[in-house]
Parts: sequence; structure tokens; C-alpha cells
Amino acid sequence: MDSRVPRVVVFDLGKVLLDFDYFIAAQALSPLSRLAATDFKRVLDQSPLLQEFETGALSNEEFYSEVRRLTGYRGSYDQFAAAFGDIFTEIPPMVALHQDLKTKGVTTWAFSNTNDLAIGHIRRQFPFYGDFAGTVLSHEIGAMKPNSASYEAIEAATGFRGSELLYLDDRPENIEGAQRRGWQTIHHTDPMDSIKRVWAALGLN
Ligand SMILES: [Mg+2]
Repeated sequence: MDSRVPRVVVFDLGKVLLDFDYFIAAQALSPLSRLAATDFKRVLDQSPLLQEFETGALSNEEFYSEVRRLTGYRGSYDQFAAAFGDIFTEIPPMVALHQDLKTKGVTTWAFSNTNDLAIGHIRRQFPFYGDFAGTVLSHEIGAMKPNSASYEAIEAATGFRGSELLYLDDRPENIEGAQRRGWQTIHHTDPMDSIKRVWAALGLN
């Protein structure tokens, strides 16, 4: 067997399988705050807050409290959690690719910089999430891509390393982190291109 044929396909979630837009949450949340939607969005995705949340340094309740402090948001925790998580939509050709891989018996893992509120929503809303053999999530391991600890976590969890892993991600710095460890990589920019390259790498095209 070709030693370059990957044993597992590892998917980034955001902008690969799921599109997302924090402005959707900001629009839902800002009417109950002192900020306009554009400023609310900045608190969510351009302050150090989200990074702290996604490295597991803040609990869900602590994140909610910080958002309240920074924005004057006065909705309940449950209202906040529902709106904050509801920012995702499937990228249909990529979800179909994932389904086709499962049908062919290919093992897939999810590898994401994310948080507990987003993952709770994704688990409830998107059936494909239940089809991964496993997941490595930044808030659970306390490290974000492209920190080497996150790649080590996938290697430890899957039992595979180097070219045994084929990894798709939309962010160049995350791809570079994987390449430094000898993983096979696909810098995802376009579904049709990625789909072609996944099947070619697996020798199944
Ligand atoms: Mg991404």
C-alpha cells in the first residue's frame, strides 16, 4: 500500500463544513444592549474575549458575564446562549463530501478552534457532526491552532501522525502548522477543488 495514502481525514469546521457570521448573533443580541450591532460584533469576534473562551480559560457563564459587562446586554443566559451559537450554516458540497467519505468507510475527525456554546449548537443542529470518529476542540484541550499542542492532541487521539493524516483548513497559518508536522494538507478555498484533492489523496478518484 502507498505509504502516502492517508488513514484519516481531519476537518476544520468553520468555513470548511460550516459557514458562520458573528454579525447574525450581534444583530440578535444588540437590541438588548447599549451597542449597535457592528460594535457588538466587534466585542464578540475582535476582542481577546473570544480567544480566552476558545482556549477554555472562561466558562460559558463567565463568557456571558464578560459580554454583559462590555456591552450592557441584559437578556437572560439562555437567550444569550441560543443567539450566540446560532451563527452557522452548512456548506452543502462539503457536508456531502463528508457523507460520501463515511459511505466509503473513511475515518474522519473534527479539529476546531471553538467553544462550548458553539459546539452545543452544532451538535444539536447538524447531523453530520455525529459522524466523526472523534473530535479535538480547542476549548477542551486548552490550546488553539496553530499552537503545536493542538496538532499533538490530534496525533495522540487518532493514533496517526505525519502523512497518515490528511487535513483541510481554510486558514493558511493552520495549514502551515500541520505541514511542519508532515501532515498532508489541503488549504481549503473552494469546495470543488478540495473535493477533487481529497479523493485524489485517498486514491479513490
Ligand atoms: Mg476555519
